[in-house]
Amino acid sequence: MKPILVANWKMQLSQAESVERLTALRLGVKDFGYAVHMVVCPSFTALERAKETLITSKIQLGAQDMFWAEQGAFTGEVSPTQLRELGVTHVILGHSERREFLGETDKMVAQKVESAMAHGLTPIVCVGETAHQRNDNQQESVIVQELERALQCTPPPSENQMLYVAYEPMWAIGTGEPASPAQAELMRQVIVRTLQEKFGAELAAHRCGVLYGGSVDAENISHYVRPDSYQGALVGGAGLKPETFLALLTSIKQQFS
Ligand code: PEP
Repeated sequence: MKPILVANWKMQLSQAESVERLTALRLGVKDFGYAVHMVVCPSFTALERAKETLITSKIQLGAQDMFWAEQGAFTGEVSPTQLRELGVTHVILGHSERREFLGETDKMVAQKVESAMAHGLTPIVCVGETAHQRNDNQQESVIVQELERALQCTPPPSENQMLYVAYEPMWAIGTGEPASPAQAELMRQVIVRTLQEKFGAELAAHRCGVLYGGSVDAENISHYVRPDSYQGALVGGAGLKPETFLALLTSIKQQFS
């Protein structure tokens, strides 16, 4: 399976800055080949210009969230069909910042994952324990429960579909303190087992991928994203600058070639 690098630009950049960075990225990946799936998730407000900037590029466009319904009286929300219209192929769902600051629940995440799959978008479903839960040694049960709930309405991925799960310990996001490779690997195995129980070994191996996220940088990415471990990374800070994004890509490519 091809590795993947997903950059979550959060609410960090203006539309003009997003276009500027995507233009640089587009040039930077020109000779990169198709060895790694590359996905950038700008703010909603930059998606239209991002689509124009990325036409014929190898970089795919992701969104940072979406609503589950296709249309209706849902003030402020963005639907899967509206995202498809903007050329979006991937969508981050259940990011811990949304769970923490916007009250997003497992049930809401479940509805979003089901809807994303039904509308041909590739979901990147985020799960992760708090520092408190890890101190209480509850990380495994928390992740299993979060994932089972997030996937409760989701049918098995079909032949051309992928479903990604991002393990993002909340204490590692934006702190400069990533999970140790051993901690991360243990949690990857928990996630893989949960996916196998839900979809069966075959689909879990070929239609599901597990990403690590939380203070990933160009120096440490090779500890996580390797042929015998995580299939990719979801990055915040390190994905914002074209030069660091390209350094991450280079490391992944080296690991997988
Ligand atoms: C994130 O917010 O999903 C994330 C992984 O951020 P960072 O890479 O900055 O820790």
